[in-house]
Amino acid sequence: MIVAIDGPAASGKSTVARAVAQALDLTFLDTGAMYRALTAAVLERGCALGDGESCARIAEELDLTFDAEGRVLVDGRADEARIRSAAVTAAVSEVAAHPAVRRALVSIQRRVAQDAPGVVAEGRDTTTVVFPGADHKFFLTATSSERARRRALQEGRPEEQDALRLEIERRDAFDSTRADSPLVRASDAVAIDTDGYDAAAVTALILARISAPAHDQQHNSGDNA
Ligand code: C5P
Repeated sequence: MIVAIDGPAASGKSTVARAVAQALDLTFLDTGAMYRALTAAVLERGCALGDGESCARIAEELDLTFDAEGRVLVDGRADEARIRSAAVTAAVSEVAAHPAVRRALVSIQRRVAQDAPGVVAEGRDTTTVVFPGADHKFFLTATSSERARRRALQEGRPEEQDALRLEIERRDAFDSTRADSPLVRASDAVAIDTDGYDAAAVTALILARISAPAHDQQHNSGDNA
């Protein structure tokens, strides 16, 4: 089974996708972490962010795998602090916009799904490009101020909420307007507006939707499942 969950930056996709994967005993696939790990390598090697060919070459050379918790490993090692750093966050959208980079990472993502009994994938294009035939598709949204509030709380940086909101809006604009695999809601994805819901409630909504009989799923394809 493939469950695909897309949405803008900091919409809670990772937390929810991880919980859904755990509940269903499926593999959690954080595609954003892969673009982040690549971007960390691009920065480390001093490669220009706009040089798509070189970025793609690095993507092909990198040994990207995942541990049991779904953390991305580069050459067998996790470095969450590095891939979530401000420098990587600021650069990742430009690296991720290169078609050759996307081809390299999408092929790894599909291989992970092939090798697993099932996956819960999350990102920007998992419902539209990576797994267009996914069994279940969701699109999580929330206002940028709510997403910044949650992220500031999560990172213990309440005073930086405004700066985080601007960063989130900048990244959303970049990711939504790129030519290759832009962030859009697939027409067959169930939209969930998460304003006012916590991660546990959104997870419960998704699990209920997945276990609903097929005829209910077709009948009820509106917002908030
Ligand atoms: O989800 P996360 O914030 O970790 O994603 C980081 C960046 O990776 C996004 O802003 C986007 O530029 C890129 N990304 C992507 N396609 C995906 C997942 C992430 O382009 N499927």
